[in-house]
Amino acid sequence: MAKKIVHRIYELRSILREIRAAQKTIGFVPTMGYLHEGHLSLIRQAGKDCDFVVISIFVNPLQFGAGEDYAEYPRALSRDAKLAFANGCDLIFAPTVKEMYPQGFATFVEVERLSEHLCGASRPGHFRGVTTVVTKLFNLVEPDHAYFGQKDAQQAFIIKRMVADLNFDITIHILPTVRETDGLAMSSRNTYLNQKERQAAPVLYRSLCAAKEKITQGERDAASLIAYITKLIKQEPLADIDYVNIVDLENLQPCKKISGKALIAVAVRFGSTRLIDNIIVEV
Ligand code: AMP
Repeated sequence: MAKKIVHRIYELRSILREIRAAQKTIGFVPTMGYLHEGHLSLIRQAGKDCDFVVISIFVNPLQFGAGEDYAEYPRALSRDAKLAFANGCDLIFAPTVKEMYPQGFATFVEVERLSEHLCGASRPGHFRGVTTVVTKLFNLVEPDHAYFGQKDAQQAFIIKRMVADLNFDITIHILPTVRETDGLAMSSRNTYLNQKERQAAPVLYRSLCAAKEKITQGERDAASLIAYITKLIKQEPLADIDYVNIVDLENLQPCKKISGKALIAVAVRFGSTRLIDNIIVEV
């Protein structure tokens, strides 16, 4: 079948009905577009695991708060289509807002507790928007496998919880964060950075790596590690910290002492651009 972009739900469903009838497995990568290597790594993995790869490109208004960058978020469908198709995508679903949220839309999906901290605390309603749109997309695509990036670790863990709790018959894969050569996590939002901000931004990953090194040397106290990361990030005058936190990977609740697997996560503004990054540590 020729590679295709569809905008309507009925078109998506009719193509996928045939794919399923041919006993093909379906891999799915939800995105907001403006694709980069991070997205493409997910698409390529889906292509390795599955017979047919669907991606969605939808800037989901539900997951943006008032005053956030919904209107400015970069959109470039034909550029994205070339990249996606060249990396193993078979079908792009790029719906309009009206197609996803017709008048009268009133149902939301919310995963409790896991969104209390980190980005959930800074962006009220954000994860409710994410889980609602991902539920809709899962119901539309009905994939066998779905792929998410560790870059958005809290999102990935919330979706894993939702899939388990709501019995979606989908295997969730969380793939490593793809970085620029200087360590900056790839993000569609990096395009907002001016030259000075772009030069400053690798401080995030540098600080996370320095904290990991401290843990290797025996540091276990979360408050000391948070203070250490905060100090390192503040050495960069353009960096304005939203949060630095360390949470238990099991429940995403802040931990006092690091034991088992922990997520060290940061959100920092450079000008009006808010960037996030994280690493997982295990002791
Ligand atoms: P987005 O378009 O930002 O909503 O991201 C779509 C998917 O790509 C999400 O699962 C993200 O976690 C993932 N992703 C974004 N940036 C990266 C990255 N640098 N490395 C790996 N995955 C990423």
